[in-house]
Amino acid sequence: MFNSWSAELRRLFLLLTVAVLLGLPFDHPWFMAIMVLAGYLSWHLYNLYRLYAWLNDGHRFHPPEASGIWGDVFHLLYRLQLRNRKRKRRLTGLIKRFQEATAAMPDATVILDADGTIEWFNSAAQQLLGLQPGKDVGQRIVNLLRHPQFTRLLSKGANSEPLRIPAPDDDCVTLNLRIVPYGREQRLLIARDVSQQQRLEQMRRDFVANVSHELRTPLTVMSGFLETLLEDEQEYAPHLARSLGLMQQQASRMQHIVEDLLLLSRLETERSVPPHEVVPVTTVLGVIEKGIMPLAEQKQQSLSFDCGKELSIYGAEKELYSAFSNLIANAVRYTPEGGTIQVRWYRDAGGAHFEVQDSGMGIAPEHIPRLTERFYRVDVGRSKASGGTGLGLAIVKHVVNRHNGALRISSTLRKGSTFSIDFPGSLIVSEE
Ligand code: ADP
Repeated sequence: MFNSWSAELRRLFLLLTVAVLLGLPFDHPWFMAIMVLAGYLSWHLYNLYRLYAWLNDGHRFHPPEASGIWGDVFHLLYRLQLRNRKRKRRLTGLIKRFQEATAAMPDATVILDADGTIEWFNSAAQQLLGLQPGKDVGQRIVNLLRHPQFTRLLSKGANSEPLRIPAPDDDCVTLNLRIVPYGREQRLLIARDVSQQQRLEQMRRDFVANVSHELRTPLTVMSGFLETLLEDEQEYAPHLARSLGLMQQQASRMQHIVEDLLLLSRLETERSVPPHEVVPVTTVLGVIEKGIMPLAEQKQQSLSFDCGKELSIYGAEKELYSAFSNLIANAVRYTPEGGTIQVRWYRDAGGAHFEVQDSGMGIAPEHIPRLTERFYRVDVGRSKASGGTGLGLAIVKHVVNRHNGALRISSTLRKGSTFSIDFPGSLIVSEE
């Protein structure tokens, strides 16, 4: 490139020198130089015109023939054009493959701009969301998917939990909707048909609830009889009395499991109903304190409640009682004799907080994320020996979710654990 540029400069210099030398005998060297420069300029203008005509003509791909610097200019532009064509072909292929892939996707995908206006959607979005190609692009999605929860999901934006709503055209189809932010304030709406999953979950819930319900009566009867039999314990042979005692212990454990399973399935089915009674939490904690104190005294533990004056929240009293007592009972059960347990209930700018801190055995970090799963126990033997059902923290998690709260667990092995529940400030009942 620079070779031809210096060659061009050399050519101009040579032309001018020849013109001046030829003009010298006639006493007009400058006139000859100007004539040569005029010819040189005409040659450039002519080639400039050819370049313009070539770029203007969309049909002609190959550049015109030219010599000198213009030959190089045409050649370089031609190479640039070739490269652009190749890139364009590759991009077109990529877009085509992307469109084919998204069209084959069973999930509805809709691209939304910052205002929630539809920019593009795939064919699954036509079936699942009832969007019409050619008509709905450019429309705001909230005008087409009219559901209060969806409007809320869209305004919440990123990091919001997926939402389950019935499909707009078919109430029997349940959709799981997610909003994924990307690019410059753009969002991807992804909808998946989860009707089958929903039916299976419902079947599982019904099954557990029915089995628990059916087991409740026979267990109550068995327990009752065992209790009556054990009233005359001294009349039986020692091994028989011990067997009867064990039977009663196991029957009562099963009763606890059944009760917890029934409570869990109730919490699951009533998930969408927000509880709205005024719960005097300080008083509720006082009741729990009275109930649990004898157990803590038996284990020579120092159990203290730091609750201040009455602080009430909106919620479901029975559920909150169950969550708080589960956490406090766990702390007492999993803290060895002579340990310390501190319960706190207070409010700050972030909302209302419940906290149980113990100096117990602690939990290894790998177990913490799984503690709220049903029947998950760190130490099965210890849990059963202390009368645990393995459902306590699952119940706590559900209750906390139903109150829009957050459960936090922090623990250090052999040092102790802290279980906290944060309730949003909106649930606090203001004192008049
Ligand atoms: P469980 O009825 O077995 O106590 P939970 O769901 O209440 O069931 O608790 C699950 C598991 O979490 C327990 O088995 C126990 O291993 C562990 N855990 C719960 N609370 C504590 C605590 N305060 N200290 C140590 N481990 C705990």
